[in-house]
Amino acid sequence: MIIKSSYSNTPVWRDIHVHAILPQELRPLEEIAHNLWWVWNEQAKDLFEDIDPKGWDKSNRNPVILLQNLQSERTEEIVKDAELMDRIHRTYDAYHAYMQVPHNSNRPSIAYFSMEYGLANILKIYSGGLGILAGDYLKEASDSNVNMTAVGFLYRYGYFTQSLSVDGQQIANYEAQNFGNLPIRQVNDENGQPLILEVPFHDRIIYSNVWKVAVGRINLFLMDTDFERNSEYDRSITHQLYGGDWENRMKQELLLGVGGILLLNKLGIKKDVYHMNEGHAAFISVQRLLDYVESGLNFNVALELVRASSLYTVHTPVPAGHDYFDEPLIAKYMKPIIGKIGIPWQQFMDMGRENPGSNEKFSMSVFALNTAQEANGVSELHGKVSKEMFRPVWKGYFPEELHVGYVTNGVHLPSWATSSMKAFYEKHFGPKFYEDEGNFDLWKKIYQVSDDEIWKQRMHLKKKLVDYIREEFKEGWLKNQADPARIVNMLEEIDSNALLIGFSRRFATYKRAHLLFTDLDRLSRIVNNPKHPVQFIFAGKAHPADGGGQGLIKQIVEISRRPEFLGKIIFLENYDMQLAKRLISGVDIWLNTPTRLQEASGTSGEKAEMNGVLNFSVLDGWWYEGYKEGAGWALTDEKTYDNTAFQDELDASTIYSLLENEIIPLYYAHNSNGYSPEWVQYIKKSIAEIAPHFTTRRMMDDYFARFYHKLADRSKTLHENNFAKAKEIVAWKEDMASKWDKFEVVKLDFNPNQQVDFNDTNTQTYGTVVIDKKDMAGTLGLECVVVSSDTTGKIEFLEKYEFDLVKTEGSLLYFETHKALNDPGTHQYGLRVYAKNPDLPHRMDFAYMRWIG
Ligand SMILES: *Cc1c(COP(=O)(O)O)cnc(C)c1O
Repeated sequence: MIIKSSYSNTPVWRDIHVHAILPQELRPLEEIAHNLWWVWNEQAKDLFEDIDPKGWDKSNRNPVILLQNLQSERTEEIVKDAELMDRIHRTYDAYHAYMQVPHNSNRPSIAYFSMEYGLANILKIYSGGLGILAGDYLKEASDSNVNMTAVGFLYRYGYFTQSLSVDGQQIANYEAQNFGNLPIRQVNDENGQPLILEVPFHDRIIYSNVWKVAVGRINLFLMDTDFERNSEYDRSITHQLYGGDWENRMKQELLLGVGGILLLNKLGIKKDVYHMNEGHAAFISVQRLLDYVESGLNFNVALELVRASSLYTVHTPVPAGHDYFDEPLIAKYMKPIIGKIGIPWQQFMDMGRENPGSNEKFSMSVFALNTAQEANGVSELHGKVSKEMFRPVWKGYFPEELHVGYVTNGVHLPSWATSSMKAFYEKHFGPKFYEDEGNFDLWKKIYQVSDDEIWKQRMHLKKKLVDYIREEFKEGWLKNQADPARIVNMLEEIDSNALLIGFSRRFATYKRAHLLFTDLDRLSRIVNNPKHPVQFIFAGKAHPADGGGQGLIKQIVEISRRPEFLGKIIFLENYDMQLAKRLISGVDIWLNTPTRLQEASGTSGEKAEMNGVLNFSVLDGWWYEGYKEGAGWALTDEKTYDNTAFQDELDASTIYSLLENEIIPLYYAHNSNGYSPEWVQYIKKSIAEIAPHFTTRRMMDDYFARFYHKLADRSKTLHENNFAKAKEIVAWKEDMASKWDKFEVVKLDFNPNQQVDFNDTNTQTYGTVVIDKKDMAGTLGLECVVVSSDTTGKIEFLEKYEFDLVKTEGSLLYFETHKALNDPGTHQYGLRVYAKNPDLPHRMDFAYMRWIG
């Protein structure tokens, strides 16, 4: 035997997670950490920070990690610290008191489905505006005691984090989330084993873990396929948000919709109203249809019930921004389930097409429209744009007539007002302010606050932003950029006394981040005025597949490194909720320059409003409604040029001159206290008259008033007496549909081109029309539609009015009208017959119509 001097192998390192087991006294902290209530509760956040200030920072403000890593010496200290223990108890009591409030039973219950939720920075299941909106909405549902349950995905990698190379190239990093470190809990079955959701796909079962996120009083359930029950191929279904190919998107949306409903079924959760946040979730209708069919109802009745309880919210004004699936792909995944529902494949495909019978791709949005009684855009203007966009679905109608409403997006005030701003509101608007923030009058109290105090508050927030930039970015910049002296210079240049202007959002082309850089000489003069310094802060991610967006980031980064712009134009990496909160509260002006009609709502400007920051934006999205003179600045909503380059140039030059002639002089009209009282006047007006209208409180109230109540009431009626009403309506629709082409116009005598005697409109008869409806069981309506057309042939809807049904003889319907046209002038009119039934929720619910004459 030879004895070697050494004999060993190399180690295989395995992870161990040593979690501190908290002593009994500190268990309440664990409970609080696992409910996102803390995200918008300053008392709880301050408490976590004081438990372990370093740990709080190091964990990225994640209380779960903070508590896991708490050293035993520290826990002993805490337990002995009477004051801290008292705070723990008080916070726990506050939490309990909050959780004890029951649902408001006067409001219907809601199931909510979304691909993404922006709830907290540490929970990476969001990418941008859509997700943050959904997250804010759940928090509001909690605060407003709404009976809501939400469904989404727990992504392993979520959306990417952004860093920039030396030359400004975006680098996308996907970091795996360790689910054990997140403020979530895995859902178990009755045996205490992980509950596994089984979702039948065409040739296999997809298994999902289920995680529960407690968002105050609301539960959000997240599906996750990344575990060993699935093949490698399927484990990745929930890896990335908006990553992967079309097939993966197909799988995700099948899981969100069909899986989402199966999950609620499994958990025994039934709601009054089903809300699809974007078309991604439209397949919930597929499983809901199947459930009704399997309970013994026929397809048409099932569809009637599903429609009556569904709302679809569209967030994207660009048709190309909607999901379309090729027929072979969707057939592969959906054919079996559609077979179970029992309708021909063709019929299902046509439910997702603007032109049934064509070979168009399957549109999730069109399918959502066809399975939801109600649909809405996310601002007044976007509601109109959506009607225009969905026009091809309801041929023969004018956009004005379509049944697409709107609710303007809002933001969750307690999440987006900074802690000091919240204290400020409580001090001046009363301690119960947050319970009553929907009371617009309360906000007017801002007019009684002294200018000095408001300015001090603003300066505090500006300084916090500047400090944050210096602390957070210094290290990274020194490491990644070649020239340390320049970085130090730049950090010194950033000045909280300067007029700070923020522009941060996704770098989608329509957001037009390049606008400001149209005339660099002029921009340089603006930022380099020594008496009136101005600084711009940019941030934002571009989708990894969006080369144009990434190019834009690169261009801005390059400009920001030129000597004349150093420290004057700053690009901050990795725009996420945490950075967003600092930015939207710490600048003076929030700038937004979207291409007109393409900003559905936008919410970051609303977040800014909550912190006394003024908006300067194109009159698009929410700002179209929000803008008030003397409380912000606007670029007109009118487009001057069809040529985009010309329009961009015009907009850029308007921005420069507004800055030069109005905004900068206003900001620097300092009084002896070193600030501009006129500026403070703008802030007061914007808090009093703009901010209160753009909270999620107002938004939630609107959803109930415009959609949820209506849906729940009708759905209830249709469900009663063994679905009697639903069956009756379906019988009527089936009869109408089968006999529609048979009715005939027997007599048409209509001449509105008469001398109109405006004093005697009720006795004159302008028309008599007789229609033979043949063997139709239901009845018909007749209406006159008045339009004007310009020289280009563009037809504009003016008005429509009904004829009176004056007599019925057998199958003959006699119509008359005494109504004269309202406006003298040259118009055109047309008559049309439609299927009339007062039991329909609205005309477009059964849009059978024929133009006659
Ligand atoms: C609010 C928010 C957005 C949405 O901003 P828009 O105004 O819609 O462009 C995107 N990303 C983050 C991180 C946000 O906080």
